[in-house]
Amino acid sequence: MSIANNLHSILNSIPKNVSLIAVSKTKPDAAILEAYNAGQRAFGENKIQEMAQKYEALPKDIEWHMIGHLQSNKVKYMAHFVHLIHGVDSFKTLKEINKQALKHNRVINCLLQLKIAKEDTKFGLSTSEIEAMIVSEEFLALKNIYIKGFMGMATFTDDESIIRDEFKTLQNNYSIFKKTYNTFNFNPSIISMGMSNDYKIAIEEGSTMIRVGSLIFGERNYI
Ligand SMILES: *Cc1c(COP(=O)(O)O)cnc(C)c1O
Repeated sequence: MSIANNLHSILNSIPKNVSLIAVSKTKPDAAILEAYNAGQRAFGENKIQEMAQKYEALPKDIEWHMIGHLQSNKVKYMAHFVHLIHGVDSFKTLKEINKQALKHNRVINCLLQLKIAKEDTKFGLSTSEIEAMIVSEEFLALKNIYIKGFMGMATFTDDESIIRDEFKTLQNNYSIFKKTYNTFNFNPSIISMGMSNDYKIAIEEGSTMIRVGSLIFGERNYI
């Protein structure tokens, strides 16, 4: 199947209120252009420098989503163009995003990554860390970031019940935070969860944004 066919079959199988981020990490510009020519505009990358190179080379109406783990010292390379940062997993990084956004006179949209998987290798904040952060005065001073929701990654497992439980946890916490807190820079409406292997479960559990790579572009070859 071609990239365009893969895209359309996914788009036809998901509800209209769920948006699709095409995860193009490690894939060449030509593959991204194929998806672009089929109508896709939102792409996800997990390395800041790779995303910045692709931003330079490709059409400027592409929305670039940073979905990977963030290193604070690299935020500056994407602050002028990034559309949504999914994986904010520390207050320090959020403050750096605010600082870089201010330099470009922008407000950068962010999602907080909640740690839902039991695996130690997965990044993310706990609910108590998120709570402590968003009620702090330091947080209310951040005028150049806007928290639009939450992101999570399920455990890498064949056991569907574990994945489903983790997605339920994310949805549940999203609802609680949305109900409890609302400030000029915190107003959640997005739940980013679901990848090639688990996006159907994620949608059943309330995902509004899925991040799909290999089902669109084929398996990745890591060096
Ligand atoms: C790579 C990646 C994806 C996409 O993974 P696929 O299994 O190829 O769909 C989604 N989210 C994150 C955070 C990723 O790093």
